[in-house]
Amino acid sequence: MYTIENYNFKGKRALIRVDFNVPLNEKFEITDDTRMRAAVPTIKKVLTGGGSVLLMSHLGRPKDGPDAKFSLKHILPHLEKLLGQQVKFADDCIGESARTQAATMQVGDVILLENLRFYKEEEKGDEAFAGKLAKLGDVWINDAFGTAHRAHASTAVIAKFYPDAKLFGYVMQGELDGVDRVMKNPVRPFTAIMGGSKVSSKIDIITNLLGKVDNLILGGGMTYTFKKALGGHVGASLCEEDKLHLALDIIKKAKEKGVNLVLSNQTLIADAFSNDANTKIADPMDIPDGWEGLDIGPETMERFAEVIEASKTILWNGPVGVFEMPKFAEGTKAVAESIVKATEKGAFSLIGGGDSVAAINQFGLADKVSYVSTGGGALLEYIEGKELPGIEAIRGK
Ligand code: AMP
Repeated sequence: MYTIENYNFKGKRALIRVDFNVPLNEKFEITDDTRMRAAVPTIKKVLTGGGSVLLMSHLGRPKDGPDAKFSLKHILPHLEKLLGQQVKFADDCIGESARTQAATMQVGDVILLENLRFYKEEEKGDEAFAGKLAKLGDVWINDAFGTAHRAHASTAVIAKFYPDAKLFGYVMQGELDGVDRVMKNPVRPFTAIMGGSKVSSKIDIITNLLGKVDNLILGGGMTYTFKKALGGHVGASLCEEDKLHLALDIIKKAKEKGVNLVLSNQTLIADAFSNDANTKIADPMDIPDGWEGLDIGPETMERFAEVIEASKTILWNGPVGVFEMPKFAEGTKAVAESIVKATEKGAFSLIGGGDSVAAINQFGLADKVSYVSTGGGALLEYIEGKELPGIEAIRGK
């Protein structure tokens, strides 16, 4: 109902909120164009349907108005390459020039609007600003899942100017289908693998997942808060002393809900946070002083693999070790490989959250899992069970 699939774009100017917030190096070269590539099918759909396209996005965090460093002009040549056609550029996302360009667009034209965040009104969700943007297009498409958790002018507020012409693009629809498949009606057994550095940043997700999963695998830096809470000695490992009670509470809740909580039983410890550190295998309950756990050990890789490979639905967020350093990437790689094996056997696997996506890309396995989410914070909030403004804006009245 809200998707672009059956919409008639003939003669329509589609204003598409995309997520072109791509990483750039010092030479303003794009270092990862995943988000741009993801938007291409939606753009093509409008163009082949006889419409024209206005693209709007933010890039980085400009502090005070226009700043050449954050201009979307940097990505224009690559966008043209991806689309295989010329793209015009409007150096102001609202105002006279954007309006004139939009008004004189021809079928098949694509215009890229300058960074939305050059206006403070964007993040403030200013209605007048949203109204000015809305003047540019006949139909509004939200295809920026990465900002769906923000009630910004272009991601949510603008919806009120399009009561009958607001649609999800393919990226949004794909994300929603993927997450709903995992969170609403998972084929069982359903296993979630949560990693990353801290319990504190994952607590709401873990709590929500406890009511849904059959198995919850916890890895990464948060392991040691759990081990300490259970009476272990964790040496110099990452440990949130003020979250020990929370860890015990999670263990208790998992028991109450019949969730199989799987923690690491073997860890790779290092005498420094460095790829050149000395390492050895240890019991995470008994780590010597001056040593820290930076990855899971081989026995834990097997333990995790057994659970993952027997699963029919898998959600993975967060690396189980400091995968950025090759010496501590083995555990995260093993998790990724187990997920691939489960997927080959018919499981639905969804990978989300910045670091696990970076990891799966690093291992070259992204196309061997069912779905890789492009939205970090948005995905996590959706998994937490929150309503996302960018989704509500379209699904709501
Ligand atoms: P997060 O942003 O919370 O998902 O955390 C991701 C980060 O956690 C990555 O940069 C990893 O290097 C880091 N990480 C994973 N395992 C550990 C560990 N055992 N100790 C310290 N950091 C870790």
